[in-house]
Amino acid sequence: MPVDCDLGDTCYIQNYMDRDAGPGSRDFTCSGLSYDTHKGTDFALPSLAAMDRGVDVLAAAKGVVRGVRDGMIDKAYTRAEDARIDGRDCGNGLVLQHDDGWETQYCHMKQGSVRVRSGQVIEAGTVLGQIGLSGRTQFPHLHISVRHNGQPVDPFTPDARADTCRSGEARTMWIDDIAYEPGGIVSAGFADQVPSYDTIKAGTAGIDALSSDAQAIVLWGFAYGGQQADVMELEITGPQGRVFQTRQQVKKDQAQFFRAGGKRLKSPLPAGTYTGIVTLERKGRIVSQKTVEIPLR
Ligand SMILES: [Zn+2]
Repeated sequence: MPVDCDLGDTCYIQNYMDRDAGPGSRDFTCSGLSYDTHKGTDFALPSLAAMDRGVDVLAAAKGVVRGVRDGMIDKAYTRAEDARIDGRDCGNGLVLQHDDGWETQYCHMKQGSVRVRSGQVIEAGTVLGQIGLSGRTQFPHLHISVRHNGQPVDPFTPDARADTCRSGEARTMWIDDIAYEPGGIVSAGFADQVPSYDTIKAGTAGIDALSSDAQAIVLWGFAYGGQQADVMELEITGPQGRVFQTRQQVKKDQAQFFRAGGKRLKSPLPAGTYTGIVTLERKGRIVSQKTVEIPLR
């Protein structure tokens, strides 16, 4: 694992390598977790707050450090950043040269975090730096590319031909199996109003407790890998049973999205523990579910 976090809990894979040779995109399972010409795997963090707390990037294998860059700021990409980034799309990062023509490249690392130097020989698992938001990226993640003799290789199916799905499933380059998740809920929480998308991505949307004079009780869910016709269900229950429920459809494929729903409070809710269950459904099946609790005093 090139990142020191728990997949499905404190990090997730937003994008795999694009296995479609044409203008479209698909990941190695022929699903949508990729984008056109993407040549690596993106290990993403749930929020900017998680990035600030610090998640280490680790060497995937023993190698020699090459091409180190640091010093670029951690800032979400927009077109206005093109001049500043000036082709340095990878941001802060480095390349590790391994034996027999293999190399791995690590991108978008946090400014000032890269702690290895060019020419250094390092073992697998060595801390290289931390996940950041430098270069051409809109969310905190590590992009790792695997190449053999300069050609990109998908570490999930190194033997598969580009136009077949899972044909290389028998072999993966990872030592420990990494389960494929076709999307999921990144984070969920309560609020006393519909939160802004910016606060959700920052990791500051949730509140720890609801006050008895709150004007509303709101449940929100932030998810990745949304496909058209997916449904996000938001359900709040309290000490006296169900308070609120909504089912909201995803209208088009979306790499990341959030939904929120709740109830205006004309009179105070009874004190106690409130539970929010956020469920992502696809074709009638549960893809992912997160449960959160909040006290009302
Ligand atoms: Zn990437």
